[in-house]
Amino acid sequence: MNVVEGLRYGRKVLLEAGVENPLLDAEVILSHVLGARRMDLYLEPQRELKEEEIKTYKALIEKRSSRIPVAYITGKKEFFTLEFFVKEGVLIPRPETEFLVEEVLNRISNIKTPKVAELCCGSGAVAISIAFFKKDAIVYASDISEIAGEVTMLNATKHGVEDRVRFLRGDLWQPFEKEGLKGFDVVVANPPYIPSNELENLPPEVKKEPREALDGGPDGLDFYRRIITRAPKFLKSRGSIVLEIGNDQRERVCSFLKGECFEDIRIIKDYGGFERVIAASLHAGDGKSE
Ligand code: GLN
Repeated sequence: MNVVEGLRYGRKVLLEAGVENPLLDAEVILSHVLGARRMDLYLEPQRELKEEEIKTYKALIEKRSSRIPVAYITGKKEFFTLEFFVKEGVLIPRPETEFLVEEVLNRISNIKTPKVAELCCGSGAVAISIAFFKKDAIVYASDISEIAGEVTMLNATKHGVEDRVRFLRGDLWQPFEKEGLKGFDVVVANPPYIPSNELENLPPEVKKEPREALDGGPDGLDFYRRIITRAPKFLKSRGSIVLEIGNDQRERVCSFLKGECFEDIRIIKDYGGFERVIAASLHAGDGKSE
């Protein structure tokens, strides 16, 4: 079997399994096995694959046909131009979440050594991108999952920001409370926001991701209530909150924010035109930690 035959094989198996982009995924998986770039496959299409390579490739194609996401198979995902290590147990970073990072970076660009809190950090992609692109930012990233902590610190080290990204294990604000951490310039989160009864309709790949990273409770808003009502206590006066939201959640999340004296609400749409990020500042004088 050479490269082209390998791709043809992979494409066919994945197509039959109902995978959305069978050729692309076969290419990504084969280049992963060969330790090559995707374009390299087409520079040497007749290259004969070694027996060992064929064996590994077929096994990974088999995995992919059981609808395990490509990123879990290759163990990596690009986000905000950086490559992150991912594995089962953490949510795979999504392109739309880059808008969250961009908004935070805009808000801290003129602050010296800004303090940022990220809740529900998962792989750490958001926290680490912030620390990487704002060289004096100090980021505290929390998550209830132990795997998230492990993956976040691996990624922080990979990108050389492990001295400015600290992982805190616990439920939302609880570890911040416990350690007396407050006075943040920004709090950012991409919490679980899918309504529980919609989880069963998700694509098979998303169902392989941790349910605890997706399930936002009966109306999908459980985490926003818990994050927003306590946020003023941990923010500086005029501090910001930047949240990723699900489809049709803008109005309700806005009303939670207004209820806690947040103002200057800004909505950012994603590549698909959906309102995806909501940002606001705490009314001056309401930072309860100062
Ligand atoms: N954007 C993810 C999805 O649609 C959901 C992530 C989340 O719940 N925060 O699968």
